[in-house]
Amino acid sequence: MTDCIFCKMASGEITPDTIYEDDDVLAFRDLHPQAPTHVLVIPKRHVSTLNDLDADSAGLAGKLLLAAAKVADREGIAEQGYRTVINCNTAGGQTVFHLHLHLLGGRPMHWPPG
Ligand code: 5GP
Ligand code: ZN
Repeated sequence: MTDCIFCKMASGEITPDTIYEDDDVLAFRDLHPQAPTHVLVIPKRHVSTLNDLDADSAGLAGKLLLAAAKVADREGIAEQGYRTVINCNTAGGQTVFHLHLHLLGGRPMHWPPG
């Protein structure tokens, strides 16, 4: 996907504030943080939304979660706690159509969210 900003980050065409990377996953700080720690964890391969995961790509979901837990540990928020969010499609609040997991922490998270 040549016009996808997160694909450009995954390919290195744009350099994000990367804090974790492996063969399948990239994690970088959100441009407009909603919490002291606000990191986006993305698959390097383009998947538009959670709806587009299938049996072949479902393993990516686990990799996103494992990477999020690793980043939370590195950020020092694993014990106090944090939130992970995946927005799906417009009513779900998704604005960038490359699957991503938000990792939010460093302040108390309220429920339900607004
Ligand atoms: P969504 O609303 O799709 O779940 O989340 C998209 C997130 O991507 C937003 O929190 C937004 O701040 C973040 N974002 C959008 N463009 C960029 C960018 O160019 N760089 C970074 N680091 N984050 C971005
Ligand atoms: Zn993409």
